[in-house]
Amino acid sequence: LRDQALEKASLDATTSDGKRIQVFANIGSPGDADQALANGAEGIGLFRTEFLYLENDHWPTEEEQIKAYSHVLKAFQNKPVIIRTLDIGGDKDLPYANLPKEDNPFLGHRAIRYCLANPAVFKTQLKALLRSSIHGDLWIMLPMVENLSEIQETKSLLDECRRELTQKNIPFAETIKVGIMIEVPAAAIYADVLAKEVDFMSIGTNDLTQYTLAADRGNEQVAHLYDAAHPAVLRLVKKTCEAANQAGIIAGMCGELAGDTMMAEILIGLGLHELSMSAGAIPEMKEQVRQIHSTSAQKRADEALLQGSADAVRQSVNPSF
Ligand code: PEP
Ligand code: MG
Repeated sequence: LRDQALEKASLDATTSDGKRIQVFANIGSPGDADQALANGAEGIGLFRTEFLYLENDHWPTEEEQIKAYSHVLKAFQNKPVIIRTLDIGGDKDLPYANLPKEDNPFLGHRAIRYCLANPAVFKTQLKALLRSSIHGDLWIMLPMVENLSEIQETKSLLDECRRELTQKNIPFAETIKVGIMIEVPAAAIYADVLAKEVDFMSIGTNDLTQYTLAADRGNEQVAHLYDAAHPAVLRLVKKTCEAANQAGIIAGMCGELAGDTMMAEILIGLGLHELSMSAGAIPEMKEQVRQIHSTSAQKRADEALLQGSADAVRQSVNPSF
């Protein structure tokens, strides 16, 4: 299947009954863009920007960031490029940031929380994003959002950045989509409220799973409990898709689950329109999508939501599991 899939990598992923699914790539540095394109990525669903901060011994400047973002935007021409703002904290330390030690770092001062508390750091990134936006189709995505005011505060910081750039006659694109990751259960549970404030939502199943199941994603001892196919996680996916649909915005997925070909039928049945994964997984996923019929996908999804465990869900789509 792999060779066959690679040959057809550049074709669309449309279900057998004509439903178009966007297959995007997750990347962690600008150098990954070419491989993503070669594998048939129709966009970037998650550009993790942490490398800029982790690989430096100083806060990356606006110019350093523009170089990285513009490279990917240019490579993707007018395909969507979703760039995630800094997701620091949790397990990702930053020596020069002097982050205080926390007892529960994953429940602590990470991602959007850190950025809003450090507006100078955040504004440097937002300005770099705005300035890069003239090179392609930029979508900005906020990590770890759990309430509406985090979105509103970010939007007013963005407006502040726009005003400052305008004063200096520095150009930026007028239409930049702003969206959020759904990776905290609260956000999925009231996704209908958040959806009214954003242009898109993308489900981060890596964190959503650890927070929903209270199982640390990196702890071997609870690895047997950690599975994104758990029906409770899938119910949150469904809730998010329904909220997005109601609000007329796109719901995608960029956690590991999105690249799991065995689960593709269920994910499409739950209502996802965009799946983002590592570049290497794209050709097979597209091929898999072409085999799926959305009526039976919906039936599979409905059944999965009623299963008793992640294993039962996996067996329902793969009897040899
Ligand atoms: C996620 O949590 O699913 C995600 C995509 O973000 P990260 O893995 O970078 O935390
Ligand atoms: Mg995450």
